[in-house]
Amino acid sequence: MNTRKKRKIKDPLRFAVGVALMALVLLICIVVIAAIAGCFTAPEPVVEAPEETPMPTAAPTASPSPTPEPTWEEQRLSSIEHYVRAYGNCPDEAAVEARMATMAIDPERKMVAFTFDDGPRTGITTQILDTVEQYGVRVTFFIKGDNIASHEEELMRMLSLGCEIGNHTWMHTNIEELSASEMREEIGKVNDAIRDRFGYSIRLFRPPYIKYGDKGSETRNSLVALMEEWNMAIINHTRSTHDTYSSYNAEKIYNRAVLETDELGKGLDGSIILCHDKQQKTVDAFKMIVPALLERGYQFVTVSELLHYSDDGFHAGWVYSSAN
Ligand SMILES: [Zn+2]
Repeated sequence: MNTRKKRKIKDPLRFAVGVALMALVLLICIVVIAAIAGCFTAPEPVVEAPEETPMPTAAPTASPSPTPEPTWEEQRLSSIEHYVRAYGNCPDEAAVEARMATMAIDPERKMVAFTFDDGPRTGITTQILDTVEQYGVRVTFFIKGDNIASHEEELMRMLSLGCEIGNHTWMHTNIEELSASEMREEIGKVNDAIRDRFGYSIRLFRPPYIKYGDKGSETRNSLVALMEEWNMAIINHTRSTHDTYSSYNAEKIYNRAVLETDELGKGLDGSIILCHDKQQKTVDAFKMIVPALLERGYQFVTVSELLHYSDDGFHAGWVYSSAN
């Protein structure tokens, strides 16, 4: 009985010890498994990995670029082709190629840059562009900013014909009457509008009334600083056709435009000729001027083309009356 009783007492003890031992073993197992699992999941490095992923710039290991920078001429042709395709209404590749064939420049031949101010004007600018297209020539238009929204068709056609768009202020303002900040606004607005609408960067500024301050004046200094900032040049002219004079009809405009040397001794080769796309008589004169000068071996180029092919070259902030 005693032993039985003792045994009875001992059994629960053993059972308890056994259970405790098993629990301990189980706990150890869990800890070990958790530790092993912890090793495999290793969350920290995975989280940290993205911080290392931003690729270092390729520059340090990049080999020298195999393709050279495009020349100014290559950039010119590529820009024109972009607008020929975008706005030229070319039905096929042959039409694009035919248009591009008219864009070539022979640096050895005589050049003249005709410029038209104050437009675009309804009914007039289109006729100038008809002549431009008919003969495959190029001219420059110094536009007024407040004409942009109502004349997008003409502007697109100018670009698709390889013509250049220049800045003639937003409201045809005499910039000598403006403060530096007003000047920035009045000129900058035109650049921005043309860039936003057509992706085109204007490089030329022609001051209304050809007033841009004397050398050393506050106006001139402010303007030159703006031109340098915006990579633009100030464009005066070699010769005016006087097409705004009431006494000048189409024939007089024509006679003046095609003079080899004017009364001031200014030659035609390398010259920048001032006209306005405002009146029918200028359109009529231009229709006679183009074939006459082509016949004499002149190339009609834009102002930027004329400057880039001159000895002077194009320089931001410079004032040009002709190409030397
Ligand atoms: Zn003007």
